[in-house]
Amino acid sequence: MANATAHPYLKLAEPAGFAEVPFDEKKRLIDKVVADPRFPHYLYGCYECGICVAACPSARFYDFSPRRIAQAAARLDIELMFQQMEEDIWECSQCFSCLRCPRGNNPGGVITVMREVAVKEGLRSAKSALEGYSRIIYKIMSTGTQVSPDMLQPDAFPDWGPEVKDVSENLALWRRALPPETHHTTTTGWEVADSTILELYVIWLETGALEMIREVDSGIHMILEEIMEERLEEEGIEL
Ligand code: SF4
Ligand code: SF4
Repeated sequence: MANATAHPYLKLAEPAGFAEVPFDEKKRLIDKVVADPRFPHYLYGCYECGICVAACPSARFYDFSPRRIAQAAARLDIELMFQQMEEDIWECSQCFSCLRCPRGNNPGGVITVMREVAVKEGLRSAKSALEGYSRIIYKIMSTGTQVSPDMLQPDAFPDWGPEVKDVSENLALWRRALPPETHHTTTTGWEVADSTILELYVIWLETGALEMIREVDSGIHMILEEIMEERLEEEGIEL
């Protein structure tokens, strides 16, 4: 089990990258990763067997390795961990196939913690990784769904019921009738029940998920905060 006090931080003679960022700032960020209560439960030493790499889909397509993540975190290598926070962690698809690790390591879990810190701290990489998803974040967090008509294929989602077949057969018509912005297409997917969306708003506000958006996109954060608070107020829910 990794332990920040038992394993002194490794300080390389030469920074692995991002030399413009002071070491103390890198350490401040990695301290936050290490302080997360999940962190020690994700690392138990490494056999260097490569099973996690063989199981990892991202390792097939990118210069990415869950083994490098696990080893850097186990050594508490500040420079390398910071570099990974700015680069590697965004290649992970969070599938957790790396849980096959015979030592019980969870490189995907370490990445989850690193991503959360990167988003909360508004790291350049987090902003850039999430930039293309602002519309999806907006749609999911305002409506509770991200379904668009293109996804409505009976073969793909037979459990969605007969309406899916009707819509998919007339998809071209729907595409002409509805504006292209995905936000306006939710009624052709499913409508999230009022009670569910209110519950989601409370969860996102109370867990700090909405706050995390502020660091990466303040504009969307402002709009979402307004939508959620207004809706909760209408329902007499006070936070
Ligand atoms: S969770 Fe990430 S690191 Fe683990 S197997 Fe999936 S893509 Fe690879
Ligand atoms: S599967 Fe586990 S023990 Fe093997 S290389 Fe990956 S992290 Fe190390």
